Amino acid sequence: MENIFYPNTEKQNHLPADSLQNMSDFECLKEIKLLKNELQHKLALLGHHYQNDDIISFADFTGDSLKLSQQSANLNKEHIVFCGVHFMAETTDILCQPEQKVYLPDLNAGCTMADMAQIDQVESAWKIINQVLENKQKVIPITYINCTADLKAFVGRNDGCICTSSNAEKIISWAFEQGQKLFFFPDQHLGRNTCFDLGIPLDQMVVYNPNKTNGGLTEEQIRDAKVFLWAGHCSVHQGFKIEQIDYFRKHEPETKIIVHPECSFDVFNNADDAGSTAYIINTIQNAPAGSSFAVGTENNLVNRLADSFPHLTVKSLSPFQCLCTTMYRIRPKWLLKTLQDIKIGNNQSPNIIKVDEGVKELALLAINRMLELS
Ligand code: SF4
Repeated sequence: MENIFYPNTEKQNHLPADSLQNMSDFECLKEIKLLKNELQHKLALLGHHYQNDDIISFADFTGDSLKLSQQSANLNKEHIVFCGVHFMAETTDILCQPEQKVYLPDLNAGCTMADMAQIDQVESAWKIINQVLENKQKVIPITYINCTADLKAFVGRNDGCICTSSNAEKIISWAFEQGQKLFFFPDQHLGRNTCFDLGIPLDQMVVYNPNKTNGGLTEEQIRDAKVFLWAGHCSVHQGFKIEQIDYFRKHEPETKIIVHPECSFDVFNNADDAGSTAYIINTIQNAPAGSSFAVGTENNLVNRLADSFPHLTVKSLSPFQCLCTTMYRIRPKWLLKTLQDIKIGNNQSPNIIKVDEGVKELALLAINRMLELS
């Protein structure tokens, strides 16, 4: 994998040489509080579920990426600060009003999964697959919303669609009504887990690896496959292992294992329950007092759930390796710098995320198609 952070930016975070650089997190947090109050009439601060508590404490809204992006478009606020990762800020810019500006406080807050699928690689895979099939079978491209704006535009212009972890089943079912084969990126696990639940056997799914010639596939494999899964994954969710489930089965058999569909096939299929972030939150929220859960998703969210529901036992399925480190890049000093830019009216702030208009139009087409279908 070449780029683990947002690859296309030449912009960097700029701090004034002597001021913010030397401030402690504690001092920054005090300043953020003051500035946020001052700017509240024109500012909305969004905090993704996986964001750390210091930042979440300032969020006007918390949620998953699509919900936050949709919400901000309906707000009468000129400045939207998205404390999440790059593709989330892009989606917000695609959905928001022309007069709204979207900021990402640290431009290096990328998503490792999104960065595993670059547009030129996807275009090349598309060409190879369709050449081998001689365009005799229709392939429908579906992208998980965790991807760059140009991949959203790619599915928009190729009769495909976007999906989320909540609506993946519905969108993939729709895709198979439109064509014979599915090209799913960038998360192989969500694609595989969902297709398997829809009754597609594993031997009809192949993994397309962009780092290998022809994706590492023979022409026969391409002709025979029903589903092409991109060789991408979430570094957080792929970290959960079957041994961790075995541990709970042995030592805490009453604990219910619930995981996100970005987890590997084995983990997904051996858990007691699985679903999107919203589904996990809802399940825990509605559980009877005394229930125990081991949760296979990002730890900031798991810890927050544990704090919010003291009448339940909520633990991480694995206390290690399950923090989204790229999201964690939104440090107080970067948030403070972004708020300072808004205060002084810096229209050239490097943290403003602007999606190219042509890309935006096609990406919006794909987002709207998904919303109509789900
Ligand atoms: S948790 Fe995984 S998919 Fe979500 S932003 Fe982090 S790296 Fe990307």
